[in-house]
Amino acid sequence: MKRIIILGAPGSGKGSQCQWIAKFYNIPHISTGDIFRKNIKEGTALGKKAKEYMDKGELVPDELVIDLLKNRLEEPDCVENGFLLDGFPRTLSQAQALSYFLKAKESEIDAVIYIDVDDSEIMNRALNRRTCSNPNCKAIYNISDNPPKKENICDKCGSPLFVRDDDNEETVSKRLRVYHEQTEPLIKYYEEVGILKKVQGQKVFQDTVELVRAALNS
Ligand code: AMP
Repeated sequence: MKRIIILGAPGSGKGSQCQWIAKFYNIPHISTGDIFRKNIKEGTALGKKAKEYMDKGELVPDELVIDLLKNRLEEPDCVENGFLLDGFPRTLSQAQALSYFLKAKESEIDAVIYIDVDDSEIMNRALNRRTCSNPNCKAIYNISDNPPKKENICDKCGSPLFVRDDDNEETVSKRLRVYHEQTEPLIKYYEEVGILKKVQGQKVFQDTVELVRAALNS
């Protein structure tokens, strides 16, 4: 049973790290961004509301995110095994809401992994990122550092790759600004709780894997 949060700027490589962490600990990988994108694809009311903010690189309002996340954490896979949160919390009020929610269940977060990457590196990664369109795969490639063997085709499942709507220069700059203003304060928050583990994001994916693995074992 592990309850882990992964923290870092959008494009810091959190999503890629989550794939092995979730498998390794056998815990569900919960990405609020993925939940919103699924809702947008399905044309739900939540998806329509979330899209307005996401397209502008802004955060979806807390009230739309917090209940959604709490409901997800009530599901049996999370109750029985724990969870890996990716993209949540993103504001201090989300972090506080999560803390109250877990406290009421006599539970708590075991570790917060913070992946530190420079803004310039993040911009480069976002513009080169390609994501597998198969929702059961979601593999992530970087066309300069980690390209698929066949252009625009996923190595793992053969599905087409796509560029996320929000991976363009203007939106990435905006998301980085939003991150520094609203999400970065969480680093100090979790440092004070005493569960923050800082990892320097490396160029080579596997190098970051080793640092994250060591941090989770420490
Ligand atoms: P991500 O895939 O985590 O980069 O999320 C993509 C977008 O979804 C973000 O830029 C936000 O607009 C929205 N989003 C995802 N998670 C949250 C959250 N916890 N709070 C507010 N907005 C979120």
